[in-house]
Amino acid sequence: MIFNKTDYLQYLHCPESLWLLKHHPDEFPSGERSLFAEKLIQEGYQVEEYAKALFAGGIEIPSNATPEMTQEMIASGGIVYFQPSFITKQGVFARIDILERLADGTFCIYEVKSTNSIKTDSQHAQIKDVAFQAFVLHENGLKVSHVKIIHLNREFVKSGSIDPNELLQVVDVTNEVQHSQTETSQEIKLALTYLQQKEPPTECSCKLSTRSNHCDAFELLNPIFGPHPIYQINRISAKKINELLEMGITELEDIPSSFDLNTKQQLQVASKQQEKPTYQKSYIEKTLSELEYPLNFIDYETYPSAVPKVDGLSPHEHLTFQVSIHSLDENGALTHHEYLLENMELPKELLKFMEQTIGANGTFIAWHASFEIGRNRDMSKHFPEHTSFLTYMNEHMFDLEKLFFDHYVDYRFLGKTSIKNVLPILVPELSYGVLEIQDGTMALDTWGRWVLAKDASFEEREKIKQNLLAYCKLDTLAMVRIFEVLQQLPED
Ligand code: SF4
Repeated sequence: MIFNKTDYLQYLHCPESLWLLKHHPDEFPSGERSLFAEKLIQEGYQVEEYAKALFAGGIEIPSNATPEMTQEMIASGGIVYFQPSFITKQGVFARIDILERLADGTFCIYEVKSTNSIKTDSQHAQIKDVAFQAFVLHENGLKVSHVKIIHLNREFVKSGSIDPNELLQVVDVTNEVQHSQTETSQEIKLALTYLQQKEPPTECSCKLSTRSNHCDAFELLNPIFGPHPIYQINRISAKKINELLEMGITELEDIPSSFDLNTKQQLQVASKQQEKPTYQKSYIEKTLSELEYPLNFIDYETYPSAVPKVDGLSPHEHLTFQVSIHSLDENGALTHHEYLLENMELPKELLKFMEQTIGANGTFIAWHASFEIGRNRDMSKHFPEHTSFLTYMNEHMFDLEKLFFDHYVDYRFLGKTSIKNVLPILVPELSYGVLEIQDGTMALDTWGRWVLAKDASFEEREKIKQNLLAYCKLDTLAMVRIFEVLQQLPED
């Protein structure tokens, strides 16, 4: 069995899930690789190309080269190698992004990351990642004296062609890797022993953790839970989960009213026990009645890119490429405005369009408004001539989602407040299901390919354009319909 870096990092996160993946890959419900994950992988390749440009004369090792071929190529000379692979006698495998032979015969490992800094959280564990590689090289008899991580420079601003020396930062992490070397080699040995177990894990430790820790295998490994388990309680702590499980309680509806939960959590439980939403009608009505008309329901679609594609942008900065606004006046008349950039460029025309058609008027309403507020700040930086308009928008921004934090709770939202959870319950006749583009990730991926691939036929391009417009339009129409439901709530 081959044990690679991804396996190691997964083992650190959860040994049980790795065991399942290795022994029963067909049963592991890992889901399809998301478009976003695919985009991240492609961006990683782009960053790697820039990193290679830092090493003139590097030797490219073919992607299908075996570790034996790598050894032969290294033995035959050269200084820098791209993508050399190594394997230990126990089957521990590593492919190194860039390996440099130093003057004293020792080696330096370079790991290329498309992040803006070194990340050591459990999801990224970048020091563990390079420590694993150093372990494999050491087992192959190579002396690693330096380990470096190459990541994007967050201060970089694209201006014309990209100089890799400005785009990237090289950080020496040799000390950090040396400190974790003993631990890493022990963890690898423990992982190999664990994977040799014949019996599958029957339960997993996540039973005692909050939902954010669960992987796709949770339901498979814990079939005792029903459709509304205690994990759905909004922001419930692991301590409370443990207390409930000790009491033998696994489902929302079985939680006694004496159990210590905050107000929102209690409302969620009550909602399930009564099989209906709970809300504060007078608060919601008062809040909505105080909003100044026209009400401009607004949504942006954006395109973040690891390596900036447009002058003026920095790594990972969002490029706002689309806006949809439904404007509702005091008499109930609804008007729709939309703008879609057709080129990879800063949104100068989009901003002009917004200021001319909507202007600094009334209230702007968004769902999870901090995102729109952040994009307005970005655009203000690029186009100071629109700062007054953008500042007005931000100062008159109302976040519709916030009403669902505490004032309107329905167990059928599954403890979440995203518009994708709320809309099907409040306005079931309005659905994203009929659209070609189903979510923001699909929208940005589609737009990126649409503006970069100019060879598509006019009909194809027009169809994609209509799909993009339809998706963003539904996002703001959904807010209007939810708003209308909130305005006419029956007595609770
Ligand atoms: S649910 Fe948690 S403990 Fe269980 S397999 Fe997944 S990550 Fe591991």
